[in-house]
Amino acid sequence: MSQTLSIDPSRVIPDELLRRLDVPGPRYTSYPTADRFVEAFGPPDYRQALRERGQGARVGGSAPLSLYVHVPFCESVCYYCACNKVITKHHDKAAEYLDALDIEIGLHAAELGAGQPVSQLHLGGGSPTFLSDAELARLMASLRAAFRIVPGAEISIEVDPRTASPARLRELAVMGFNRISFGIQDFDPAVQQAVHRVQSFESVRDLIAGAREHGFESINADLIYGLPKQTPASFQRTIAQVTELRPDRIALYAYAHLPARFKPQRRIDAADLPPPEARIRMLGAAISGFMAQGYDYIGMDHFALANDSLAAAKRQGRLHRNFQGYSTQPDCDLIALGVSSIGRMGATYSQNAKTLPEYYDALRQGQFPTVRGLALTRDDVVRRAVIMALMCQGRVEFESIALSHLISFQEYFAAELEALQPMVAGGLVEIDADAIQVTASGWYFVRGVAMLFDRHLRADQTRERFSRIV
Ligand code: SF4
Repeated sequence: MSQTLSIDPSRVIPDELLRRLDVPGPRYTSYPTADRFVEAFGPPDYRQALRERGQGARVGGSAPLSLYVHVPFCESVCYYCACNKVITKHHDKAAEYLDALDIEIGLHAAELGAGQPVSQLHLGGGSPTFLSDAELARLMASLRAAFRIVPGAEISIEVDPRTASPARLRELAVMGFNRISFGIQDFDPAVQQAVHRVQSFESVRDLIAGAREHGFESINADLIYGLPKQTPASFQRTIAQVTELRPDRIALYAYAHLPARFKPQRRIDAADLPPPEARIRMLGAAISGFMAQGYDYIGMDHFALANDSLAAAKRQGRLHRNFQGYSTQPDCDLIALGVSSIGRMGATYSQNAKTLPEYYDALRQGQFPTVRGLALTRDDVVRRAVIMALMCQGRVEFESIALSHLISFQEYFAAELEALQPMVAGGLVEIDADAIQVTASGWYFVRGVAMLFDRHLRADQTRERFSRIV
């Protein structure tokens, strides 16, 4: 086992910025964010969006296609969980779910035509590895029958280490998976017990070794700070253990304790949660610890080894952002399959039914299970371009936005440019005649810069101020 890292986080990033980083807020995996979706957007709207994509493809103008499949089942609940999942030990439930997915896949093939090229496929959950190898192989066969997964496509899967073995990873590799993400969260036994997710360092070490042996091109590890029983000292041991395993990528998420919203979190004793100062120390230790061990800070909650494709994309200004976070893939239309999953099609977003009965009902009637979504306005599309440029490149070129969207940037965003001035004064942002540039220290706070361009958020803030006044 490696030694605890003894790095002073304040040498890398000042506490003031860490505090700004450790606040809840939109992650801008989409703009507008999913809380803005409306129920008026239903199956006919989604079908129309697919048709428009089909028409675009016929004249050679469609974006590449990405697929996401949500597998909601987990055998036991992690108390920090905020995902849409179904806790069950009954594996026979999977068959009915796969039948429904087959119908949903078929509806897409019927609308778009079979054999649409796919450059990215991701299985998430829940726990995709709740499915047996035979069930996963069946799902992959259904997808391959309906879509053409192109050579070199990124095919990734989230793996709960408690449901996998190195032998299982070999089967996943045979099915075509070439990227893998392990949910680690924390290695400390007291923390693992407090969140009801016990998995040893040794089991994860063996899985990561197995993933390398079976040729996975990229291995990701998910961590969470702010969990019950975590201390700066215990989390530094986890950081050291994770860097010893050398995953290609690390995602570090902040735990948000919202027991009124997420039922499993009610089993966490709030008295066990680390205080704000300890959270800041853990975040700082993680950033400085990962960077000291050769990881580049990609942005928001992502780190990658300097030779990983994500780090190369960051250096070359080719980062993109989708529902999984940062990506090397150009902006894709995303078909999202399965209960509660969220997709993107042209200038629309859509979300499937959140419960299994609703999801099954719609599909049995031969309908897309879309229950909410959004058709973006022209203003949403312009702001999405600005927010994604900030989140991915940390730079917005006025001319590029002006030409693509036929606006004068300085006039359209006069109020936002004004609102950026305190950040300019604070050294987080620079503005010249051509562009907004987020500085190196501003990059840790890029979400805060993006939030200034979020019209929906600013409207809420204005409403709140107004309701305080009247
Ligand atoms: S955190 Fe993941 S594995 Fe745990 S209950 Fe939630 S979805 Fe399932």
